Amino acid sequence: MKQLKKVNNLRVILLGGLGEVGRNMMLLEYNKKILIIDMGFRLPEENMPGIDYIIPNIQYLEKRKKDILGIAFTHGHYDHIGAIPYLIEKIYKKDLEIFASPLTKGIIQKRQEDFSGQPNLNIKEVKNGSKIKLGSFKIEFFRQNHNIPDNLGLFIETPIGNILHTSDFKFDKNPINDLPTDFKKLNELGKRKILLMLSDSTSAEEESHSLSEKEISENLEEIFKATKGRIIIATFASLINRIQQIITISEKYKRKIGLEGYSMRTNIEIAKKLGYIKAKKDTFIKTRQTQNYPDERVTILCTGAQGESEAALMRIASKEHRFLKIKEKDTIVFSSSVIPGNERTVQFVKDAILRQGAKVFHYKMMDIHAGGHAKKEELKKMIEIMKPKFLIPIHGQHSMLFSHAELAQDMGMHQENIIVAENGQIINVDPKQIYIVKEKILSDYIMVDGLGVGDVGEVVLRDRQMLAKDGMFVIVAIVDRQTGKVRGSPDIISRGFVYLRESKKLLADTRKKVVTIVDKATGTGGAVNWSYIKDEIRNKVGQFLFSKTKRRPMILPVVIEV
Ligand SMILES: [Zn+2]
Repeated sequence: MKQLKKVNNLRVILLGGLGEVGRNMMLLEYNKKILIIDMGFRLPEENMPGIDYIIPNIQYLEKRKKDILGIAFTHGHYDHIGAIPYLIEKIYKKDLEIFASPLTKGIIQKRQEDFSGQPNLNIKEVKNGSKIKLGSFKIEFFRQNHNIPDNLGLFIETPIGNILHTSDFKFDKNPINDLPTDFKKLNELGKRKILLMLSDSTSAEEESHSLSEKEISENLEEIFKATKGRIIIATFASLINRIQQIITISEKYKRKIGLEGYSMRTNIEIAKKLGYIKAKKDTFIKTRQTQNYPDERVTILCTGAQGESEAALMRIASKEHRFLKIKEKDTIVFSSSVIPGNERTVQFVKDAILRQGAKVFHYKMMDIHAGGHAKKEELKKMIEIMKPKFLIPIHGQHSMLFSHAELAQDMGMHQENIIVAENGQIINVDPKQIYIVKEKILSDYIMVDGLGVGDVGEVVLRDRQMLAKDGMFVIVAIVDRQTGKVRGSPDIISRGFVYLRESKKLLADTRKKVVTIVDKATGTGGAVNWSYIKDEIRNKVGQFLFSKTKRRPMILPVVIEV
């Protein structure tokens, strides 16, 4: 029998979540066996027209299906579970072990029902204190406060040392519907010698401490106290704690709540069923029924705080909602901060609402980042408690990761023991050292567009950006096969480029240009290279239009031989 070589190193690979907010997915690989942690998606940036989500590239895993030990999920936010329906099929096998807390499991399963043809996932429930074994990995789950209940950190024993994954977290002495941070437990974990810590960096650029959920609640209540009209609150459907606060305060101020947005309704339904959201029987009413109540008795809870184009708030703001219209006395609250990349769309929604005479609150205090994630002082405390030998800051834009690395150095950690990595890099860890190896795996964006996954590549995206920016310019030229001359005058169709009626001279000159190009190319006799002619039209007309308008519309030449 072949002797197995003793393996003394472990590989950490982030498929997403580094240099971006969202798309969290990570692999721990020991002796060729792989443990997966989370499978999230992220929202597209503004310059990605028509893209719904971006998910991790898992080509590396598809080739290694048999080596996958299982998947552990930290919590039910979409940036940690959202990519499951798009990816799970590619790595699914009958004995695939999946672990999640009860609420996380509930959210995953409900979402699976919305997608057809999904494999039947056997998700095992884990709780605070649960211990499981997957190959060489022994995982102990521990409770971490965040802004969704049932959030679990992972303490992982491996043959090379202990790894601690914080999940998204904050320290909270006064949480809502949840127990306060269990420092006794954290201290106990810290005493077990942590070789490597993977820690949340989302708020690493923010000074001091995060607010406790109770303080956030008090801030929110100030708005309710001062408002006479309807209150429309947009937030993430997965911010279960925030939703609970809104319910509790609405009840206190005798407001009924109408829900708008599919994910909002389903998430609340699951969380209510599992006991994570408490509400009086008659608090929720159909949104249409809110019209039967005086405005000061109505709260509308909806999706769309990121300016998502299909979400409820966007439809309300742009007057496209079936019956909800902004009224002058309305107060609209954006109860989540803007994810980098969405600033302009959120601004658009805000402006649209303000123009209709309503009031807008985009309250820093109700910031999802400020609200849900450890700030500098908490991150320092986590390092102090766990005293890891190595640190990999995870979850966040590069500036957040660097800020986290910097404060770890201030705490006395050596620079060479802290790795700020890029998605797809392979981080090698052994008991003595941590470093990035040369080899890299694919980790580019996979874009989800409607029902298609990955069929929108960079080329399609570039086309869409071009169309969105400078429009489209179609030239139809009919060419006589016999003479090689253009018949009549070429047709021009244009969208989003220039106003045709006011650009007669430009169009006439363009037509002349096309005729010259075709005549020149076909006039020599012999075989005609039509694709060359099309390229010529595209290039020359492109240059011409740019010189006249400083714009670069997409040019589509159509040459028809008759
Ligand atoms: Zn989270």
